[in-house]
Amino acid sequence: MSHRSLYASTHPLVAHKLAILRDKGTEPKKFRELVRELTWLLGYEAMADLATRPLAIETPLEPMTAARMEPKVGLIPILRAGLGMVDAMLELLPSAEVWHIGLYRDERTLKPVEYYNKLPDAATVQVCLILDPMLATGGSSAATVDILKAWGAARIKQVSLIAAPEGVATLSAAHPDVDIHVAALDSHLNERGYIVPGLGDAGDRQFGTFAGPGSEPGHGPDDETAEVVRRLQRDLER
Ligand code: URA
Repeated sequence: MSHRSLYASTHPLVAHKLAILRDKGTEPKKFRELVRELTWLLGYEAMADLATRPLAIETPLEPMTAARMEPKVGLIPILRAGLGMVDAMLELLPSAEVWHIGLYRDERTLKPVEYYNKLPDAATVQVCLILDPMLATGGSSAATVDILKAWGAARIKQVSLIAAPEGVATLSAAHPDVDIHVAALDSHLNERGYIVPGLGDAGDRQFGTFAGPGSEPGHGPDDETAEVVRRLQRDLER
């Protein structure tokens, strides 16, 4: 699968940390640490092409022209698993703004519906980084990009730890101008919409919320999710 907008890290440190993150024996505390460390590494890669402008400074030895990052950056975590990536990004970019957009999937139409959005009328940042550890179906990301473009964001990037081909195809078909930075591109979605081999539920694993076997990635599908996944997989085969 080759998408012009997909950047899968080839850094050995990313691969090493991702292996520990995926392991089912990794406890929530360690899992959160790894989400943080991987977010630093992917954030560093995702921001490699942001513009800088010259900045006159004086070192203890002499004046010089240094550089300062030009665009204002907004962080948009996809609730809830994206929250674990926010602090790491803020450590890289302390002046970034954090904007929350809440979406849920309507059970009848299966489309994302907005339930929380306090964006001001006009965009206050030029670059938006959408944060979601798992780019699965791509539905929430594509809907979030719709909202951010209508807001006036000039440039939008998605930063995820793991992507499924179905999610990359959905997001890049809807928004070919959105760069997608990931630690790994995995094989496929299962009938429940989980990425395979993936790492399970990124929210539950970060926050220690395991709701029993019915909520586990390998448990039987719910019909609507399975239908969405089948449709995405048919589209991919075309
Ligand atoms: N969300 C997750 O947390 N995990 C997946 O595999 C897919 C979506």
